[in-house]
Amino acid sequence: MTTQGPADFAGQHLTVAGLGVSGISAARALAGLGAHVTVVDGGDGDKQRAAARELTAEGITVRLGDGDTLPEGTDLVVTSPGWKPDSPLFAAAAAAGVDVVGDVEIAWRLRGPGAAAWLGVTGTNGKTTTVRMLASILAAEGLRTLAVGNIGTPIIDVVLGQGKDGEPPYDVLAVELSSYQLHWAPSVRAHSAAVLNLAPDHLDWHGSMEAYAADKGRIYEGNTVACVYNAADKATEDLVCEADVEEGCRAIGFTLGTPGPSQLGVVDGILVDRAFVENRQKQAQELAEVSDIAPGSGTPAPHNIANALAAAALARAFGVRPAAVRDGLRAFHPDAHRIQIVAERDGVTYIDDSKATNTHAAEASLAAYEHIVWIAGGLAKGATFDELVQKSAARLRGAVLIGADRALIREALARHAPDVPVVDLDRTDTGAMSEAVREAARLAESGDTVLLAPACASMDMFVNYNKRGEAFAEAVGELTARDH
Ligand code: ADP
Repeated sequence: MTTQGPADFAGQHLTVAGLGVSGISAARALAGLGAHVTVVDGGDGDKQRAAARELTAEGITVRLGDGDTLPEGTDLVVTSPGWKPDSPLFAAAAAAGVDVVGDVEIAWRLRGPGAAAWLGVTGTNGKTTTVRMLASILAAEGLRTLAVGNIGTPIIDVVLGQGKDGEPPYDVLAVELSSYQLHWAPSVRAHSAAVLNLAPDHLDWHGSMEAYAADKGRIYEGNTVACVYNAADKATEDLVCEADVEEGCRAIGFTLGTPGPSQLGVVDGILVDRAFVENRQKQAQELAEVSDIAPGSGTPAPHNIANALAAAALARAFGVRPAAVRDGLRAFHPDAHRIQIVAERDGVTYIDDSKATNTHAAEASLAAYEHIVWIAGGLAKGATFDELVQKSAARLRGAVLIGADRALIREALARHAPDVPVVDLDRTDTGAMSEAVREAARLAESGDTVLLAPACASMDMFVNYNKRGEAFAEAVGELTARDH
């Protein structure tokens, strides 16, 4: 297979914004294609200097301490996802008539004729889970595939690696696309794509809910076979209506209820397809049982059934057989810290959903259990908690609050769940998690769930959500009989 891509960038002057993981990998890949690459970064610390030394030795120019001015002669700016659209560098690029794109756009432009189709997944929550379910289903069909995006190998490297070293090329890629990536990827055209859900998040980056939704909606642009939306979230359906798609592309809904024509849904514990069947007015195709979703990880939470339906819809749009949907869902293992059962002690189940870093995600996991002692708190990122607490109040046996912004949750609990006992831990050192778990264990009764679903980011107390989840699991391991 030939690739037209490398010729596109050879000799061009490319400015890469940001000397982080994605910037470094983009710079290397582009330099490898013969581009003149300059990486700019506003920071000038030890870490940046060390990275700069390595890149400089490879012939890449690095400018530290100034992330605002556009290097002279730049043909194209390649940005890292963290850079906000209103960054001065981009204003300078706009003034100079220079385009700004992200790594996903570069990867798309590097695809050669006959390259693997992309099945895209975005949404406020559930992207990684869905993309991994999808890749598992596609693999069960016998297709060469990979889950890419925010996971694993950088997408540029995946596209450049296509068909190298005698390996057969990929048939199809399951691509996770964040709102940031979509913002900077104007020409991506997926075969089919799904928006799983839409709730306020990252509004500081996008500027408004409208701008955030518009960036998410970009994933449907130019789809050829199916735009998959969440029938329970009208905002996702609206995005399909607004999208400019290829002639004949269909809108396919997924629902946790009985599916209508052109939908996938659930009937009596069975995932059924009423979209990719011959006579969708009268027929439905059984795909899998709900219990086929990651067996061994407990009863799937409703939002993971929704994720499975979205993955199934994309796979079916690509022509995958029903049996492969079932086999792929059976073979799927959830990632750590996403509704992970940590232990059961004295009839109480301890669940780590540390990845629930916003209120929308926490709401989904709180909806999955009946009696909950909720461990929450951290960095709120501008969120409010009233709606979350209102919706979940009836399920709460108690709450243990940790982290910098816990007062916001405490106040929402006082307003909407005044009878729920609350333990407010006035410490943000990492040892606070042990105390939080001990307190939660005291509040829990047999049959209850102790759920770490913080609804907040973790960086006030932990390096990241992984470390927060690990601290939780360790703390559960430390529990003694006395703590119950
Ligand atoms: P993302 O890649 O979008 O961050 P993940 O699959 O990593 O999504 O899941 C993040 C968290 O979001 C999970 O821990 C879970 O609490 C929650 N979640 C997953 N799927 C959904 C969904 N469909 N709707 C709402 N919340 C979800």
